[in-house]
Amino acid sequence: MKLTIMGPPGGGKGTQAEILSEKLGIPHISTGAIIRNAIREKTELGKVAEGYIADGQLVPDELVIDMVSKRLSEADCENGYILDGFPRTLPQAQAMDKIGIKLDFALNLIVPDEVIVDRLGGRRECKVCAAPYHVKFNPPEKDGVCDKCGGVLITRADDVPETILQRLSVYHKQTEPLIGFYKEKGLLADAVGRDSIEDTTKVVLEVLGVKG
Ligand code: ADP
Ligand code: ADP
Ligand code: ZN
Repeated sequence: MKLTIMGPPGGGKGTQAEILSEKLGIPHISTGAIIRNAIREKTELGKVAEGYIADGQLVPDELVIDMVSKRLSEADCENGYILDGFPRTLPQAQAMDKIGIKLDFALNLIVPDEVIVDRLGGRRECKVCAAPYHVKFNPPEKDGVCDKCGGVLITRADDVPETILQRLSVYHKQTEPLIGFYKEKGLLADAVGRDSIEDTTKVVLEVLGVKG
């Protein structure tokens, strides 16, 4: 299965992608996580991307398209993958078409803006494996430590109130138009997000037609 998960920042894309990845045995590819790694490793991409991320803006299309096409050519993507956070603009979606990447579904996680601020304010991420946590909604067993790998949990630099509102505005302007784009192609699968991760997973599996 080749899938992209769309939705607002903090909508639960990464969380659901991680669960689906384990269930379906295909890789979870998060452009945000790749970019944050590049920033930590101070690569050329990282140096350029850092300012955009800090301002809550999107990283330029060319850079992201190049990064994703390289990642998708790796061997583990042969049997499918879950894209999380890509495409995020119409030019990115058109570039995918041009390269010949055909998706089976564009899963659209529907979550209202009012919910997002709380979600992102309490989000924590494993510094080592990027697993997502939430201080209230999905706490680790031991405070500040990743259940999966023992890595330290950090708060992302862009999960601060000002940047959160900026990212929401960018989402509505630049990413939301993709809903119409995928609807027209007959690939859109709408999933209304729920108040718990487990309930949301049930909705997601149902709209994708995957057995729970
Ligand atoms: P995204 O990848 O869309 O930015 P995440 O998957 O990182 O979103 O989720 C944002 C935050 O909200 C995380 O802290 C996560 O643990 C939490 N979360 C995700 N889904 C839900 C849900 N359905 N109910 C409550 N909290 C959630
Ligand atoms: P979230 O969905 O919570 O905003 P992501 O980890 O998906 O988090 O993205 C974090 C940041 O990385 C974005 O605000 C943006 O700056 C950059 N980014 C991620 N994916 C893309 C993309 N496809 N195109 C441009 N910028 C991206
Ligand atoms: Zn971890």
